Amino acid sequence: MSVIARAMDALPPSVLLAAAVPSDQTDPHKEATLAAARFWLTAISESSDDAIIGENLAGLVTFWNRAATRMFGFGADEILGRPVIRVIPPDRLDEEAVVLAQVGRGDKTLHFETRRACKDGRVIPVSLTVSPIRDDEARLIGVSTIARDLSERDERERQLRAANSELARSNASLAHYAEALERSNAELDDFAYIASHDLKEPLRGVANNARFLREDYAGKLDPEGVERLMRLGFLCHRMEQLINDLLYFSRIGRQDLGIEWTDLNAVIRDIEMMSEAMLKERRASIVIPHELPRVTCDRIRITEVFRNLIVNAVKYNESATKLVEIGCRDEVRTRWGVERQVFYVKDNGIGIAEEFHEDIFRIFKRLNAEDDDKRGTGVGLTVVRKIVERHGGRIWVESEIGAGSTFHFTIRKGAAYAA
Ligand code: ADP
Repeated sequence: MSVIARAMDALPPSVLLAAAVPSDQTDPHKEATLAAARFWLTAISESSDDAIIGENLAGLVTFWNRAATRMFGFGADEILGRPVIRVIPPDRLDEEAVVLAQVGRGDKTLHFETRRACKDGRVIPVSLTVSPIRDDEARLIGVSTIARDLSERDERERQLRAANSELARSNASLAHYAEALERSNAELDDFAYIASHDLKEPLRGVANNARFLREDYAGKLDPEGVERLMRLGFLCHRMEQLINDLLYFSRIGRQDLGIEWTDLNAVIRDIEMMSEAMLKERRASIVIPHELPRVTCDRIRITEVFRNLIVNAVKYNESATKLVEIGCRDEVRTRWGVERQVFYVKDNGIGIAEEFHEDIFRIFKRLNAEDDDKRGTGVGLTVVRKIVERHGGRIWVESEIGAGSTFHFTIRKGAAYAA
């Protein structure tokens, strides 16, 4: 037995190609060449991942490779010589006649996507390449179809579409929440404004009446009565401070930002000048190790941020020489990921225990008991955070009791920076 004959023997029964290729028994050389060609053709088709199907003009299957069996479930012995329409779903039967006519008319190869039926009843999406098969005299004797299973691709596309629409849905609800949040923030700001405005008038009445009582009844009040009225006056003054801060806080939310190019070195110089007496008295100095960038921001509001942080850095500081370092880092690793262009205000003050790192930004939250006259209102950091957030940034603190504090913040508005 020749090598070719042995190889032919090893091939699966699907190989009916011989039926479609005329053999010439009289010429042994031509016969051997043809057999070799058949061998290669079959070996190639059997190694293909795509289904390769031959059919004659009667619509009967003449060739069926292994991939066709894998794809459609019919073994070669079940389908060879049988109508190809077994793999065509009923709603696509018309397609067959049209394709045969089109391919037969010219020498065209058709590429199209359609659906095909499997033995187990599944209908799968396929991409087909259909070409004419002609004999030695160029007579059309059938067509070859190469079918690629598109199930996986379609499934991937379906998942992608589902993920996209899920994304679109969550984006829409996110936008909805953001809008609702913005609305409720605006309403809260309005409420804080109106409430604090309206609170001021009766408060002034209480303060005035306490003063009148003290003045008009001076002779009738014992020292404890006078002391109590003084205290009442002081508490009214304190409440007025709180209301004013609340008003200021609500104003930040209600007013548009005036974004402009701002030289932060100039901003710090202005604050230094305005706070000269305080810095001197408290033996504090501001250090800027590297020149700060120019940024697009609301200059007045960002000045307010730095001023608040600097005043706190000096106020909550018991070091003999109080140092406030101000700088900008290109990148800082945080619990939210890497933040870029991060400004910081660092002090060598009393520090803040970790459990209060979030709390200190809450309105009216204060950690230190001080004398009444020096006491802040606990609004400063809330205002600072509001300004930073209105600029699209974040603020956070790194600190330990006794080891000083570093307040970090970013400004994203305009997102334009220049060294
Ligand atoms: P206020 O200074 O009016 O109390 P803030 O909102 O500015 O209000 O600060 C809230 C609290 O956070 C302060 O009362 C203080 O206890 C703490 N704090 C703020 N900055 C610092 C700092 N640099 N070092 C230590 N503690 C600070």
